[in-house]
Amino acid sequence: MNVMCPVCNSFQALQAACRHCGGRMEDAGKLSDYYGDYSPYRPIDDAKRTNGLPDLAQHLCVHVAWCPSCRREQRVAVREVTDVELYALEQGG
Ligand SMILES: [Zn+2]
Ligand SMILES: [Zn+2]
Repeated sequence: MNVMCPVCNSFQALQAACRHCGGRMEDAGKLSDYYGDYSPYRPIDDAKRTNGLPDLAQHLCVHVAWCPSCRREQRVAVREVTDVELYALEQGG
C-alpha cells in the first residue's frame, strides 16, 4: 500500500496552531530536510509508544511549522495517507 504525506505533496495545507499565540502556523518544510532522514527526537518516539501501532507511527511525516507572529517554530507530525484517502481528499476539495 502506497502512503504519502498530503502536505509534502501539496494536497493539504499544514494544519498547525501556535502553542504560544494560537495563530496559524506556516509550513517551513519537512523536519528531515533540516536534520537528515532520521528522527532523534523524543516526541516521535513517545508518539510511537502511546499509539501502540508501529505501522501507523511509521507513516508520520514530521514538519517544521513556523509562527510568523512569535517567530518560533514547532514540530508537527502529519499523518501520511493512502492513495484511497488521498483521492477522497482531492474530491473533497
Ligand atoms: Zn510531509
Ligand atoms: Zn505564535
